[in-house]
Amino acid sequence: TTFSQLGLAEPVLRAVTAEGYNVPTPIQARAIPLFLAGRDLVGLAQTGTGKTAAFVLPLLTRLMAEKKQAPGLSCRALVLAPTRELAAQIGASVAAYGKFTGLTHTVVFGGAKPGPQIRALARGVDILIATPGRLLDHHQSGKLRLDLTRTVVLDEADQMLDLGFMPAIRRILSAVGHPRTTVMFSATMPPAIRQLASDFLNDPASVAV
Ligand code: AMP
Repeated sequence: TTFSQLGLAEPVLRAVTAEGYNVPTPIQARAIPLFLAGRDLVGLAQTGTGKTAAFVLPLLTRLMAEKKQAPGLSCRALVLAPTRELAAQIGASVAAYGKFTGLTHTVVFGGAKPGPQIRALARGVDILIATPGRLLDHHQSGKLRLDLTRTVVLDEADQMLDLGFMPAIRRILSAVGHPRTTVMFSATMPPAIRQLASDFLNDPASVAV
């Protein structure tokens, strides 16, 4: 498989080339077409497999295809990550892979001043990358609505479980509207993660690498 066979938008392919990637990794080759087709997805994958690009590249492509503007106080797509470090890393990947797309993104996490985060959310953003606790704070204080969000990615779901974020994740997913595409990546599949998938994902395809 080559990147150009996967159905990605041209500006996304250009960024992939600029990154120096020649061949999709196995998780990318399998997950990208499913995500582009709008399937819910459970990906069993460790760090280092290229899982970030496996969800960021099709996410950018789908958001470009819709040609919609991000509504104020809202995000079109939400990416949840367990730690500020991972959230920042995903933000850097979105910036790199999305640099020719014109799509906007912002990263919010705990331990940082809420003011700038609130101002960024007020304008509306295409892709919001967040840790669950701070995201829920913004939602509960009325600074972020989730009913217009149509795509959710849960990255390192088992880590979020271990850090005690399961109640926050369930509240967030309950607030996101339908129809939506929900994609989950996890290095392991403990029962609580299987249950989360069965409660919130719609007939998900499974990809394991
Ligand atoms: P990840 O598993 O998302 O943490 O990615 C691991 C590393 O692989 C990152 O440094 C990426 O830049 C790199 N990477 C992702 N996809 C590819 C690819 N198709 N070809 C070469 N490197 C890649």
